[in-house]
Amino acid sequence: MATDSSPAIVWFRDDLRVTDNPALSAAAGSGRPVVCVYVWDEESPGIRPPGGAARWWLHHSLIALGEELERLGARLLIRRGAAEQVIADLLGETDAALLFWNRRYGLAERTVDETIKSAARARGVEATSFGAALLFEPWTIRTGSDTPFSVYTPFWRACLSSPAPRKPLDAPNELAAGPRLSGLSVDELGLLPTHPDWAGGLRESWTPGEQSARASLDAFLSDEVADYKQNRDTPGIAATSRLSPHLRWGEISPHQVWHATSAARGAGSRASAIAEGATTFLSELGWREFAYHTLFQHPQMATQNIHPEYDGFPWPRLHPAALRAWQEGRTGIPLVDAGMRELWHTGTMHNRVRMVVASFLTKNLLIDWRHGEQWFWDTLVDSDPASNPFNWQWVAGSGADAAPYFRVFNPELQREKFDPHGDYVRRWVPEWGTDSYPEPIVDLGETRRAALAAYDVVRRGRG
Ligand code: FAD
Repeated sequence: MATDSSPAIVWFRDDLRVTDNPALSAAAGSGRPVVCVYVWDEESPGIRPPGGAARWWLHHSLIALGEELERLGARLLIRRGAAEQVIADLLGETDAALLFWNRRYGLAERTVDETIKSAARARGVEATSFGAALLFEPWTIRTGSDTPFSVYTPFWRACLSSPAPRKPLDAPNELAAGPRLSGLSVDELGLLPTHPDWAGGLRESWTPGEQSARASLDAFLSDEVADYKQNRDTPGIAATSRLSPHLRWGEISPHQVWHATSAARGAGSRASAIAEGATTFLSELGWREFAYHTLFQHPQMATQNIHPEYDGFPWPRLHPAALRAWQEGRTGIPLVDAGMRELWHTGTMHNRVRMVVASFLTKNLLIDWRHGEQWFWDTLVDSDPASNPFNWQWVAGSGADAAPYFRVFNPELQREKFDPHGDYVRRWVPEWGTDSYPEPIVDLGETRRAALAAYDVVRRGRG
């Protein structure tokens, strides 16, 4: 039976931060001791386990969260197992009165959460969830005929004319630590690569954690935002925010990004450039929202075409050597190879180049987008259950508001346009232009024609 001193439990998931964390703030505000828990769940059915680079990120992010919580007087308890069982055990052990979390949007995750909420309520625990990962909850943005949007521009227009996203919450001043409970160390989760340790490039490139997320946002808003619109498509220039893995793990909320960006608009000689950059930047955040709203409508988006007529796409038999050459950056197409090597080394790739390598895989190598999506899932530090499959389907033509299939990027023209001096390609493919650089593994013109012929099959199928 819960008493006045029974604790409040905060279950952390994709929200590894103490600032603007509604679940944590609610627990702090309850005046009860607080138990903060992270559950490493590889058992609940249907939940996609994070890929290798994302696991590396998670390891460091959990350490950073633990430090933030300790500063506030609490601890991060880490447990492993099916969330339903782990949370039930914890409610029993602590005799908790309250249970809080911030929402997730995948179907398997929602199913787990609903089951846990009902079970908690059945035992008299007040369970409450909050919106914290999205600016607009998926069920609040609807067309005039009360259907979800399938096209981005009217979607984002509807978002912008909805009530503005709430202001971010401050971190709690302090937390009363709940009982000391036995848990695992972050190391015991085994999230880091060991044999071999391939994470050297990730360590050089990134600092996971809430403080680093905030520093990236501040640096972007003071240095880059004014030129964002102009430079964001140039992979040789560091012109974007690099916030995506921080947003993926919720080390920063979109509300914090939204309000800080809005506040950066102001007077001064560059005011109009800053305003323009801010609007473009927020509309990119809008693509993240659109990807999540699409996931909410199409929970199987990582494995199933959003447009089912693409199920009839005549993918040729997989050529494993071609897939490997793409993965390893040995296709003989410099911009593709540069992108794939950047990805392998740093765990990220410039957005423009992501589009080019995805188009090359699906439309020049004629390899099913799911192979590319899975490789990105394993190698990106920002690999995201909504944004990754959404964007793959966008490039492949099967997705929501997708690029038309017949828009096949020519990776050589893309290089000339977006990397005209070769800064980006030379950084990642130093042997480009020498004898040791391979010839292209496919003819771009021929493969483009084959892709369009394959697409005709889909188009005819559609009637
Ligand atoms: P900025 O230009 O600073 O943009 C700000 C934020 O807006 C990003 O951090 C991100 O959260 C969001 N954003 C920007 N573009 C997109 C987009 N097209 N779709 C969704 N959100 C966007 N992004 C991921 O976060 N995770 C993924 O797994 C992922 N996979 C992708 C796969 C493909 C094939 C493609 C073409 C794009 C993918 N993206 C993904 C989108 C985009 O490439 C990255 O979000 C962006 O490169 C991250 O860099 P940034 O934080 O500096 O972006």
